[in-house]
Amino acid sequence: MTQFPSNWPYSTDNMMPFIDLKVQEKKLHSNLQEAFESLMSSGSFIMGPKVEECELALSNLSGCQALTCASGTDALMLALMAINIGPGDAVFVPSFTFAASAEVIRLLGASPVFIDCTPDTFCLDINSLTEAYDMIIRDKKLTPKSLIAVDLFGHPVEYEPLKNFCEERHLVFIGDCAQSFGATYDTKPVTSLSHIATTSFYPAKPLSCYGDGGAVFVSHDQEELLNTLKSLRIHGQGNTRYEHIRIGLTGRMDALQAAFLLVKMGIFEEEVALRQKIADRYTTGLQDLEILSLYAPKVKENCTSVWAQYTLRVNNRNAFQEHLRSYGIPTGIYYPIPTHLQIAYKDDIRAPKGLPVTENLASQVVSLPIDPYISTSVQDGVIDIIKDFYKK
Ligand SMILES: *Cc1c(COP(=O)(O)O)cnc(C)c1O
Repeated sequence: MTQFPSNWPYSTDNMMPFIDLKVQEKKLHSNLQEAFESLMSSGSFIMGPKVEECELALSNLSGCQALTCASGTDALMLALMAINIGPGDAVFVPSFTFAASAEVIRLLGASPVFIDCTPDTFCLDINSLTEAYDMIIRDKKLTPKSLIAVDLFGHPVEYEPLKNFCEERHLVFIGDCAQSFGATYDTKPVTSLSHIATTSFYPAKPLSCYGDGGAVFVSHDQEELLNTLKSLRIHGQGNTRYEHIRIGLTGRMDALQAAFLLVKMGIFEEEVALRQKIADRYTTGLQDLEILSLYAPKVKENCTSVWAQYTLRVNNRNAFQEHLRSYGIPTGIYYPIPTHLQIAYKDDIRAPKGLPVTENLASQVVSLPIDPYISTSVQDGVIDIIKDFYKK
């Protein structure tokens, strides 16, 4: 029997990595080592020059003022704290996302209102949002304060219509760009299109630390908001170190992570281009299969994605995953349980027509391995193995 695909290196005993961070680490090894050694000998582990340098580099990439922090979750928390979200406030949020997007709302005692998403972009559906907003106004129990929009899998939301929606209703528009740092909408960085944007540098995100990290972004004219965020990040600090003018967090990014992130930023643009090439290769390779219930993600024409995930919709997901696994190909499900169906969020408010698209997607989505360094031959093998599944 001839081997299929020829010279395929993986098997159930030798699984392909879902995200291979080792190739990148090898490529940057000496620079990372140098960054590590120089940081260790500097003795400056909290804040200091590396954090400042990192924030400057992030500001240049993001088109706004960047403030580093301890994680993507803390970034969202800082954003909500800076606009005084608390009990009695409604914050609109999609359910089809990582739980942190809604968690921060509940942590502050406010009420998340779960919104449905669209089946083609997997991002927030503005009709569902409008209906939910009108419902909150009619009910008069909560004050609508903010929207957290999520660029799921690295694909930008509809920034322009959403910003208009928020401005007309005096909602603070927060962009959760945890998966989309580096993506663009109308050629502008996604982080520059909301009132406050946040991101995460968790290791699996397109730009990542070797540990936790995150950032908040505000436009250059928002000096006061920036100062509030800075104070919140360090225990509500006032003008001097032991003066506390509000309740805050221990929300700083470690200087070591800032040093690593600076090294990684040096090749980030190149990596975004490589991710796009890999996404295109999947899309081209799999396009004939669309009739077979397999649906590739759509990125709107005025946008670019950073492909944090390459996610398909399939009807027979278990068999699809098992087929790939038998060839040593791991797949991921983001997310198997939508946030509004999680135990911790079961009593929270949902959009008036429910979240049928989200619930359907949760049973269909499956993500393929993607990182900037998958070789062409391996990727072609993955494509052939998927095609083989649909032949049966
Ligand atoms: C990863 C992620 C977060 C949280 O980021 P952490 O750095 O893990 O705290 C928030 N929102 C979304 C959409 C994410 O994907």
